[in-house]
Amino acid sequence: MSRPIRVLIDRAALSHNLGRVFELLRQSSSHCPAMPKVWAVIKADAYGHGIETAVDAFAHADGLAMLDFAEAVRCRKAGWTKPILMLEGVFDRDDLEACVEWGLWPVVHEAGQIALLQKNVVKRPVAVFLKLDTGMHRLGFEPQDYGQAYSALLQLQSQGKVASIAHMTHFACADERNGIQAPLKVFRNTVGNLPGDRCVANSAAILRHTREILSADFGSDRETDAGTDRSTDTDKSCHASYSRWVRPGICLYGASPLSDLPASQMGFRASMTLVSKVLSVRMVRAGEGVGYSYLYRTPRDMRVAVVACGYADGYPRHAPSGTPIVVNGQRAALAGRVSMDMLTVDVSGLSTVQVGDEVILWGEGGPGVDEVAHASGTIGYELLTAVTPRVQRVFF
Ligand SMILES: *Cc1c(COP(=O)(O)O)cnc(C)c1O
Repeated sequence: MSRPIRVLIDRAALSHNLGRVFELLRQSSSHCPAMPKVWAVIKADAYGHGIETAVDAFAHADGLAMLDFAEAVRCRKAGWTKPILMLEGVFDRDDLEACVEWGLWPVVHEAGQIALLQKNVVKRPVAVFLKLDTGMHRLGFEPQDYGQAYSALLQLQSQGKVASIAHMTHFACADERNGIQAPLKVFRNTVGNLPGDRCVANSAAILRHTREILSADFGSDRETDAGTDRSTDTDKSCHASYSRWVRPGICLYGASPLSDLPASQMGFRASMTLVSKVLSVRMVRAGEGVGYSYLYRTPRDMRVAVVACGYADGYPRHAPSGTPIVVNGQRAALAGRVSMDMLTVDVSGLSTVQVGDEVILWGEGGPGVDEVAHASGTIGYELLTAVTPRVQRVFF
């Protein structure tokens, strides 16, 4: 038998989760007939799930958002014909050419990216998303520089290099109760009535602030020029001349961006399950050490199961004793330091545990990835994207 660790990727769960996002948006947009468009964010190899799987599972999304150009080309080769948004924009001239060749829409977040457009021949106009820094201070133009950047892009549009200009920002604190009021105000004040689509929300903003996002007045009801208006599904009674886009990532993968709201409670399903097997079971007397540095000392006689999963598989080394693990369908607890290839579990309270029994590290039937992440002082995002290449992917 080969080493039994596997990561199971559930396409149906991915599609279900996207459907759940659409459902939430539909419920909250009843007052505004225009449904927002959805970029399914698939950066980092679709949060560890695989690009081709994501292209397939997210077929109903309005677009895919990522940042790696090689991954974008893989999407096209896998048959994705709808828009692709490059979240960090172009890094060099080759990227700009890739945007033209593969029909990718770059974010423009700094002056050098505008200069690239100005300096180079652009064979076909490129749709761009201009990014405003509304306080996160990561990417984007400062409010006082935004107008100038927009004018530069308008000029490029008149030269046939830019197809349309949309406006976007990213929230730093969307997981907090009042986390988006201030940045939303900066966005509205800065973008004002400029024509073009609006794109503001990640998973946290969608889940925590759906109504606020969807009812936000992102500008006037003035018509945009034909080149920028793709909002064919916009109900005119909503008086919106632009489309709203949202950018969910983590919730599509069945994890939650909100510490107080588990993904399952919001109707999302685990799409990634990390499984392995017991490779040894032993009795350890009270007061003995288990694992490296004897970090764990048995408080009583204990049955310990050794599992074929370690930090070289992507399980967090800093997961403390007590972190939940499901063995043979029963909840147990990590005991002792995680090794490179193995970890140890207290299975004393469990009915028979034998070599070869199934272990679920996280996911369907096991602890939630958020639960393991929380115990380990990190977030589900990190665990999902950290499963290493040596772990065989099983897609179903
Ligand atoms: C990653 C990312 C998202 C998605 O964020 P989640 O928290 O995973 O929903 C949205 N927008 C940008 C710019 C991102 O980088």
